[in-house]
Amino acid sequence: MTIFYQSTRGKAPELDLRGVTLTGLASDGGLYVPKNWPEFSVAEILAMKDQTYLQTALQVLKPFVTPAIPEVDLKRLLQQAYATFTDPAITPLKQLDDRHWVLELFHGPTLAFKDVAMQLLGHIFEYFLNQGGERMTVIGATSGDTGSAAIAALAGRRNIDVFILYPNKGPSDIQRKQMTCVDAQNVHAVAIEGSFDDCQAIVKAMFNDERLRTKYSLSAVNSINWLRILAQMVYYFVAAAKVGAGKPVSFVVPTGNFGNIYAAYGAMKCGVPVSKLAVASNRNDILTRFFNSGLMKPDGVHSTLSPSMDIQISSNFERLLFDLCQRNGAKVEALMNDLKNENEFKVAPVQLGDARQIFTAACADDALTLKTIQDVYAESGYILDPHSAVGVAASRILERELPDPVISLACAHPAKFPDTIRRAIGVTPEVPPQVAALMQKPERTTLLPATIQAVEQFMSERVSL
Ligand SMILES: *Cc1c(COP(=O)(O)O)cnc(C)c1O
Repeated sequence: MTIFYQSTRGKAPELDLRGVTLTGLASDGGLYVPKNWPEFSVAEILAMKDQTYLQTALQVLKPFVTPAIPEVDLKRLLQQAYATFTDPAITPLKQLDDRHWVLELFHGPTLAFKDVAMQLLGHIFEYFLNQGGERMTVIGATSGDTGSAAIAALAGRRNIDVFILYPNKGPSDIQRKQMTCVDAQNVHAVAIEGSFDDCQAIVKAMFNDERLRTKYSLSAVNSINWLRILAQMVYYFVAAAKVGAGKPVSFVVPTGNFGNIYAAYGAMKCGVPVSKLAVASNRNDILTRFFNSGLMKPDGVHSTLSPSMDIQISSNFERLLFDLCQRNGAKVEALMNDLKNENEFKVAPVQLGDARQIFTAACADDALTLKTIQDVYAESGYILDPHSAVGVAASRILERELPDPVISLACAHPAKFPDTIRRAIGVTPEVPPQVAALMQKPERTTLLPATIQAVEQFMSERVSL
């Protein structure tokens, strides 16, 4: 049975997998969610304990993607996507103590969990474009991490050009080199003489320009893309089967845009036995406050040691809100309008109660993040990156609320944040060899002024339409 997708605001047309993959945001401003979740039995999930990552991925994704992608093709796309991972388990588990595991999501080419979804998305984009004889231009603004994951995923893909705009003085050395040392004709790293906000403003302006959008078939690979969520659901099946062996598990997820933890929720909806899902935030604790009060109220972004979680509004939260509103798009739209017009919304006590049946939340500031890196290193010799440390800190704060076993997600490799790690434990984490090799390659980038004209001119020279 084919799974169709509906918008959280209820007005956009329903789409199939190909449609949601290539569309992104729904035309009514909502996000696409599946109309129904396929169910996996406890026995099926238990059997995943002895399967490879690719076998489980094939089994989990199959009901969502067939018939748009036939099983034989899906199998090949999965093999290609995960061939770039350096650990044979793709997302290996490490035990910290008798009740606590870490699920490592950072063995892809850019050392952060975004690779798990982005690598597959790159291949599936190419697959759908080839089918229709189409091409597209992916454009994005980045302060560092998302841009490099997009470049690593799209480098060398046919019929796709990718332009990533970053602030000339913004990214760290390693982040910049992950964008500029990639040797592929279709990759265009662009240093903008300006801030991240300038980069984002140019990208938004280009999307809002109907002429440019059509001429270049502009597309984004941002975190609201359904396929990214779907690809992330797989490792929750893998981890629950291996650690829980049929018993419910708790997951602790360092959260920014709510994409990763929504994938956990999706896995639960498909039958993965879950006791609790814990949202971990840094000082930007809007979600922790929401799960305690039912009030969603942004109060400004603070820079922290875990920059990928420095957010105001978590865009994927709307997908959960849709279920809290009993899948009533008009109610979601009313709440999102409150947020836009009054800078806050509040859900009813019964909705908060529903949310708290499944979710709990805690936050850790920079001091606690550093202390957690220290403590875990002293206890077990394991080095957490600052994002993963926020998760482990939250799991300790919530210890009494989280039934055993607890699985914390490790979202980035510590080598991506050498300064923070040195500050915490005085040790410089080793850069994995494949990334060290990339760092030696010549950099390729173009410096442009912060104007839409300059970027379009550059685009027209590089893209053959
Ligand atoms: C993107 C990211 C996060 C936040 O994940 P969301 O899906 O946006 O909630 C956390 N840690 C790292 C390292 C990331 O790159």
